[in-house]
Amino acid sequence: MQHVVVLGGSIAGLAATRALRGQGMKVTIVEPDGLATTGPRGGVPQGGQLHALLDMGRTQAERWFPGLSKDLVADGAVLGSGSEIQLFENGTRKVSVPGNELIGVSRTLLEDHIRRRTLLDDGTSVIAGRACGLDIRGGRVTGVRVRAADPDPDAVTVVPADAVVDATGRSSRLTSWLAAQGWPQPPVDRMRIDLGYATARFRRGGELPGVSVAHQLPPAGASAAEQPDTGAMAAVEGGQWMAVIVAYAENRPSRDPAEFLRRMREMEAGPFGVVADRCTMIGEVETYGMAHSLRRNWWAVDRLPGGLFVAGDAVASFNPVYGQGMTSAFLHASCLAAYLRKGADLHAPAHAYFRHIRVVVDAAWEVSTLSDLAQPHVTGPYPRGYRLARKMADWMGRASTTDAWVNGRFLDVVNMRRRPADLRTPEFWWHVARAMRAQRAQGPQLVRRQRQPLRGR
Ligand SMILES: Cc1cc2nc3c(=O)[nH]c(=O)nc-3n(C[C@H](O)[C@H](O)[C@H](O)COP(=O)(O)OP(=O)(O)OC[C@H]3O[C@@H](n4cnc5c(N)ncnc54)[C@H](O)[C@@H]3O)c2cc1C
Repeated sequence: MQHVVVLGGSIAGLAATRALRGQGMKVTIVEPDGLATTGPRGGVPQGGQLHALLDMGRTQAERWFPGLSKDLVADGAVLGSGSEIQLFENGTRKVSVPGNELIGVSRTLLEDHIRRRTLLDDGTSVIAGRACGLDIRGGRVTGVRVRAADPDPDAVTVVPADAVVDATGRSSRLTSWLAAQGWPQPPVDRMRIDLGYATARFRRGGELPGVSVAHQLPPAGASAAEQPDTGAMAAVEGGQWMAVIVAYAENRPSRDPAEFLRRMREMEAGPFGVVADRCTMIGEVETYGMAHSLRRNWWAVDRLPGGLFVAGDAVASFNPVYGQGMTSAFLHASCLAAYLRKGADLHAPAHAYFRHIRVVVDAAWEVSTLSDLAQPHVTGPYPRGYRLARKMADWMGRASTTDAWVNGRFLDVVNMRRRPADLRTPEFWWHVARAMRAQRAQGPQLVRRQRQPLRGR
């Protein structure tokens, strides 16, 4: 049996482990905390923030962990669909899309479930330690250097491997490990976003019947200081609402609970105000900052050691407000399985694997960075044809508030069920034009009607 060492036991590492086990490989996960605990983990400092699992992510998660949604719902997660999922654009409620589903679950419970399932398998073991380098011989990875967590944290051992998957997240050190041994580094794209997140939990009662998720997207073009907050809230396990406020640059939210409530009330999307007014906050407000989105273009590297794979945030980590990270990680696991299923030599450079994940990474990057570039404090880099793409995105956003077909196709792309190119077809633009004609015919009262606040109903 070939042996693969997976670095990092979070979402990407666990999903990759399942994919490898499905191909009959023996897997060892290296993770500083040894994955011995349930609940929040120090290695995942973002774990306390509200995490949305996009529809494609749930489909892929079900592939690797069949019955996962059912198990989560049995543990209190809330599976919402259609009109229970309320999307707002700049305070205007968008038309609902029947059949659209989203599961409300904390990141911690989701990870607990998939970790427990992964570790039940006899072919998977865990080493409590921190990877600190690779052994590369004869042009291929032969082992991982690991600094053990216990008993002597300075002792480094080498864990032999036929292949290695780096799933150590955004702060992966892989490129410097490779550079130290004379291997080329991938070109890196960075987009400064200066993002601030704040999440709070509330006791959930009957205050919002028929609502499981609400999401408020910001208008394009306003400066960070003037911009209304972006926010999302979801009914999650434990009879709670989790709500997040997202803002940028000098407008980033703080940990002050009074400020959090004020900002929820000021949001034009009704459900946020209802929760702020009627529900009790539980615990503290948790904050998280992210300076930039980043993409490591492994597919552009012409000389790679054999047996080296990278997955999850270690490849690319986007502005989390679009909720693409976990879905990308599950999709990378599917790419890994597809690569191995074709009979690839595990010891060979995995160029074809990286070309495969590029499709996923580029789609997520295009969606998130096009929206981020609309903000004045984000200063590029601008892709070719940006001005036209921005205009088209604004028209599409307007049309999607009233037209279920347009909004459905838009949500397909946002949920990573379809590629962004599907928003550039003549069929799509025919529907956008039709929706905008209908809006003009109905006049301004249409927008006023959609802006009716929910509060107090
Ligand atoms: C504020 C915020 C909000 C987010 N919201 C969403 C959302 O709504 N929806 C969504 O899909 N995604 C969201 N994400 C992204 C999501 O958290 C990640 O994409 C997801 O966790 C997958 O990451 P990963 O497994 O690649 O890395 P991580 O989850 O970051 O895990 C990396 C793992 O590697 C381990 N590790 C690190 N260094 C080493 C080492 N040297 N040796 C061994 N192990 C190591 C760590 O301990 C950790 O367990 C959000 C991210 C942030 C920051």
